[in-house]
Amino acid sequence: MKIESVDLFYLAMPEVRDIGDGSQDMLLVRVRTADYTGWGECEASPLTSIASFVCPMSHSACHPVHYSVIGQDIEKPDDIARITANVRANSLDLLQSDHTLSGIEMALWDLLGKRFEQPVYNLLGFRHAELKSPYASVLFGDTPDDTLRKASDIRRQGFTALKFGWGPFGRSTLADDADQLHAAREGVGDDGVLLVDAGTAWVDDVEAAALRLPALEDARVLFLEEPFVAGALRSYRELAARCNGLRIAGGEGSHNAYVAEHFIDHSGAGYVQIDTGRIGGIGDAKRVADYARKRNVQFVNHTFTSHLALSASLQPFAGVASDWLCEYPTEPAPLAVALTRDRVAVDRNGFVAPPEAPGLGMELNLKAILKYVQDVEITVNGKTLYSTPELVQ
Ligand SMILES: [Mg+2]
Repeated sequence: MKIESVDLFYLAMPEVRDIGDGSQDMLLVRVRTADYTGWGECEASPLTSIASFVCPMSHSACHPVHYSVIGQDIEKPDDIARITANVRANSLDLLQSDHTLSGIEMALWDLLGKRFEQPVYNLLGFRHAELKSPYASVLFGDTPDDTLRKASDIRRQGFTALKFGWGPFGRSTLADDADQLHAAREGVGDDGVLLVDAGTAWVDDVEAAALRLPALEDARVLFLEEPFVAGALRSYRELAARCNGLRIAGGEGSHNAYVAEHFIDHSGAGYVQIDTGRIGGIGDAKRVADYARKRNVQFVNHTFTSHLALSASLQPFAGVASDWLCEYPTEPAPLAVALTRDRVAVDRNGFVAPPEAPGLGMELNLKAILKYVQDVEITVNGKTLYSTPELVQ
């Protein structure tokens, strides 16, 4: 099979608000051979990523992403690894290319799974998928009362694990943060699993983060995510050494497997969180999951958007029982909800698993997302490099 086309679609909500919610817009990827179609989603700024796909070559290590993908043979998983390696070599100096590659790589797995009539996790070598405990992933409320209400609602929906993140947490006073944490613990209940995402609030300031440790430990938070920006590994390590029971999590910013492996080796974190829509796709995420397991670091998906992205993010650790947690977006924007007819459903006992259907197992509802498609054209000297393709044909 030859890759005949790669189509990128920029979708967005009518209003994109200045909040920590990455589901408000989307870069959707469609890859086609003569007989099969695969879909993927980049965790990315859509327009910048489209530019990286079509831009003119700057020099030999700065080709547009399409240069390494269109026309390539795709018969087996090794071909995906070859295409990935080519994108990385040919677009070495084009920093957005990892984001763009991620959605394409994901779509190639979807396409191969459909070709072989197997779920992607089978193609990755897992015979079956283990059940995961989904944690509902939501933003902190504006006030502790809002947070308490949110936590109680989510608990009533059947989730036993809950992660609050971003919002005012870490950007307010110590007392306010402590109130938020106690409200979250009260809402999730004594027996619930409580997780906190600081959203890089303290950049690399260990002392500012350490001030919150007593309240975090008092609220029995299982892990504190991203206290610092992605590369601040020394700060991660110093904070991890000062924790009592609390573990540190991070790694969502990894845009290739090496970055994630350095995080595992040097951060002191107990959890590594990988977004298949950013790290380069399912293959790199699987490599990190395998690496983490050998070093007693738990692999967790990072997913805050659609169920297409969620299915993709579950594949790299689908067969690993010890990686038992799974991020589960519970308040995505209507666009992300509308994308798929299928869902990664939470079962009666509160567990999830990736779909058993071929590929990523997600049928898309293209008609429902048509209204979110952004009409884009990129021209250089009168030559059109990109115009929004037809979504429904
Ligand atoms: Mg996060």
